Amino acid sequence: MSRSPRRSRLLAAVLVLPVLVTAACSAGPGEDGTVRALASFYPLQMVTEEVGGDRVTVSSLTPPGAEPHDVELSPAQVASVGAAQLVVHQSGFQPAVDDAVAQAAPEHVVDAAVHADLAGDASSHGHEADDHDAEDGDDHGADPHFWLDPTRLAAVADDVAAALSEIDPDGADVYRANADALTARLTALDEAYTAGLATCERRVVVTSHEAFGYLADRYDLEQVGISGVDPETEPSPARLREVGEVVRDEGVTTIFFETLVSPKVARTLAADLGVEAAVLDPIEGLGDDTQDYFSIAEANLEALRVALSCS
Ligand SMILES: [Zn+2]
Repeated sequence: MSRSPRRSRLLAAVLVLPVLVTAACSAGPGEDGTVRALASFYPLQMVTEEVGGDRVTVSSLTPPGAEPHDVELSPAQVASVGAAQLVVHQSGFQPAVDDAVAQAAPEHVVDAAVHADLAGDASSHGHEADDHDAEDGDDHGADPHFWLDPTRLAAVADDVAAALSEIDPDGADVYRANADALTARLTALDEAYTAGLATCERRVVVTSHEAFGYLADRYDLEQVGISGVDPETEPSPARLREVGEVVRDEGVTTIFFETLVSPKVARTLAADLGVEAAVLDPIEGLGDDTQDYFSIAEANLEALRVALSCS
C-alpha cells in the first residue's frame, strides 16, 4: 500500500544520488548513517535510546500511550522487525512480538527476559520459548514488569551496548560510556527508593494490576493486586472482598490505579472502603511527552511514601 510513494522517493534518490540507493537496502544503516534499532515497548526503547545516543535511531513497536501487554503488529511492523539491525524485546511478554522475531530472525536481538534475570519460570524457558507456550504463558502468573527494579533495567543497558558495539564497532566507546551513564542514573534512583522506603508505617501496597512484584521485592514491600498480572483480567467478587479485608486489617490508606488502564475498579473499591485512590504507574508507556522513565519513577516513589507514611 505504501509502495508507490516509496517508489517515487526512491526514484528521486536514483536521479540525484545513485550511490545512496544501495545503502538503503534492508538490514543496513538508516539513510542518515545511524544504526536502526527497534524496541518492543517503552522502557526498552528508553534504554536503547540512552545507550545508542546520536548513533542510533530507535523505533518502538508499541505506540506511545498504548498498553503493551497485548500489542498486535501490522504486516508493516512485522516487516520492520526483519529490517532492523537490532531488536530489543522481552520474550514471554508480548506474544505478537515474539512471533515476529521468530519469523523475521533479525541478526541482532537482545532479549531482556534473559538478561534482566527474571524470577519464576524465566530460567526454565531455556533459550527460545516455544511458540506454543506463549499462549499459556499469559496465565501462569510470571510477572514481566522487571523494569520497575532499576537495577535489573541496568543489566539490559549492558547488553544493548554490547549488541550495538558488534553492529557499529566505531561507536563501542560511546555505547559503553552511555550505558555507564544510564547505569549511574538507575543506581541513584535505586538508592533514592531504598532510602525513601526504609522507614514506613505500613508496607502493604494495594494496586489495580499486579505489576509491582519486582519493585516490592527490591524494596521489601508487600503487593496485593486487585487483578492479576494481566491488566485486562476482571477481578471476581471474592477477590474484591479479600482485598477489602486486607485494606481494613492492614490499615491501608490508598488503593493505587494506573494510567494506561481504566481506573474504574480501583476507584470504586477505594470509594467503597473509604480510602484514597492514587496513581502508581507501571511505566509501560508514556502518557505524555513531558514524562520519562525517571520522572515517573520519582513520582511513584513520592506516591508510595505518602501512602505508606514513610519518614
Ligand atoms: Zn503490565
